[in-house]
Amino acid sequence: MDIVFHGAAGEVTGSCHLVQVAGKCVLLDCGMVQGESQGGPKRAQGEDTAGDRNAVPFPFDPAAIDVLVLSHAHIDHTGRVPLLVKRGFTGPIFTHPATIDLATIMLADAANIAMADAEHDNRHLQPGQKPGEPLYTQDDVNAATRLMRPVEYNTPTEILPGITLTLRDAGHILGSATVELDGTENGVTRKLVFSGDLGPVNTPILCDPAPVPAADLVVMESTYGDRLHKSHEDTAAELAAIFAAAHKDGGNVVIPAFAVGRTQELLYIFAEHFDEWGLGRFKLFLDSPMAIRVTAAYGRHEDLFDAEAKKLWASRPNPLQLPNLTLTADGEASRSINAIHDHAVIIAGSGMCTGGRIRHHLRHNLANPAAHIVFVGYQANGTLGRVIVEGAKHVQLFDDDIPVRAHVHTVGGLSAHADQAGLSAWYGQIAEHPPVCLVHGEDPGRSKLADELQSKWGSKVTLPLPGTRVAV
Ligand SMILES: [Zn+2]
Repeated sequence: MDIVFHGAAGEVTGSCHLVQVAGKCVLLDCGMVQGESQGGPKRAQGEDTAGDRNAVPFPFDPAAIDVLVLSHAHIDHTGRVPLLVKRGFTGPIFTHPATIDLATIMLADAANIAMADAEHDNRHLQPGQKPGEPLYTQDDVNAATRLMRPVEYNTPTEILPGITLTLRDAGHILGSATVELDGTENGVTRKLVFSGDLGPVNTPILCDPAPVPAADLVVMESTYGDRLHKSHEDTAAELAAIFAAAHKDGGNVVIPAFAVGRTQELLYIFAEHFDEWGLGRFKLFLDSPMAIRVTAAYGRHEDLFDAEAKKLWASRPNPLQLPNLTLTADGEASRSINAIHDHAVIIAGSGMCTGGRIRHHLRHNLANPAAHIVFVGYQANGTLGRVIVEGAKHVQLFDDDIPVRAHVHTVGGLSAHADQAGLSAWYGQIAEHPPVCLVHGEDPGRSKLADELQSKWGSKVTLPLPGTRVAV
C-alpha cells in the first residue's frame, strides 16, 4: 500500500490523497482549494478564485480511480467531487449518511457560485473570445450525489476485494469521520488511518473524536499544530465581554462563519448563554441560505449528538431557533440588514470571507469604529479574513477601498479543530505510535506539531508536499 499527497500538503485546503493498494486506487477526499489570490485584476482582495487553481487537470486520471472516500462535507474536502465525475470518475463514493445529506446542500451551493463566476467572467468578452465554462453545474452535482453510498460509523465495510473501510466519529462537524483503510496484498494486511479533520473535545452538539486503536501509517491534520485553544470558560467570558462592549458601543456584531458546523455551534452557544450575554437586546440574523438549510439538516441527525445536546433537543422543539433570530434566505431580506447600524448580530458566510454575503456586511461595518467583527474559525493564507485578522488598516471590497476601524476579535476557543494538545492526545492513544504524515496545515504550524510528536511520542514524522509518495 502507498499514498500520494495531491492537496492540503503544506496548506489547509484542497484535501486530496491517493491510496494504491491491491492493484486498486482509492481517493481520500477531493476538496476545493480556497484563498489563493491568483485572480486577475477584477478580483477583489481575498475573493474566492475557485475557477483558477481548481480548474487545472487532476494529477491523476479520474477514470482510473476505483473508489472515492469522503471524510466530511466541508467544501475543502468535497468541492471538486462533481469535477472529478465530470472528468471521468464513475466509481462509488463511500461516506457517512450525514455527509451525503450535507454535501448535497453544499455542492449545490458550489455549483451556483461556479455558474455565477462564469457569468461574471463572460460579461466583458471581447469579439471572438470564447466564453468560459463554469467549473461544474447542478447536473454534475446530481451525477456525483448519485454515486454516494452511506457507511455508518464503526461498521467495517468491504469497498473493494481485499480493501475494508471503517469510519469513526471525528467530532469536527456532523457526519465527520476518521477513515481507516485495511488493504491486503500478497496475504499481508496493512492499515492506513486518515484523521480527516479532528474536532476538539467537548465541542458543542457533537461527540468527542473516537479513539483509533491501531495503524501502520497515520495521515493527520495539523491546522492548529502550533496553538492551544482557550478553555470553554475563558471563551464564554471572551464572548460575553464582546457582546457587552458591542451593546455599549452601539454598533453591529459581524461574525463570518462556515455554514456547516460553526454556525450551528454558535446558535447552540447563544441558546445556552442567551440571558447571561444579554442577547435579547440584539437583533440576530442568520444571513445564509445554505446555513439555514444545514441547520435544518442538523435537526435530522439528532442520533449523532452528544448526551448534552440530545437532552437540550428533547426539552425544546428546536433550541437553535432563538426568539429574536431572523433567517434571511432571500437576497432582498439580506440587503435590508444593510440599513441597520446598531445592535444587530449578523452571522454570514463564507467563514474566511472569500465570497458570499459576509463581504457585503464587512463593506457596511468595517469602517464603523462602533462595530465588532468576530472571527471564530481558521483564516487561511491569502483570504480576506486572514488579511483583516493580521491587522490590515484598509481592505479592497467590491473595488472599493474600505478602512478598517471596527474592533476585530479572534475567538480561537470556538474552533472546530483540535489544538496541538488535542491532536497530540488523539495520536498518542494509537498503539505503538506509528509513523505519521502531517497534512492540512501551513508551515510553521505543522512543523511545530512534528516537533511535539517527535519529542513526546518518538514518532517518525513526514511533512509531505504535493506529489510526495509514502509507503504504508
Ligand atoms: Zn473540515
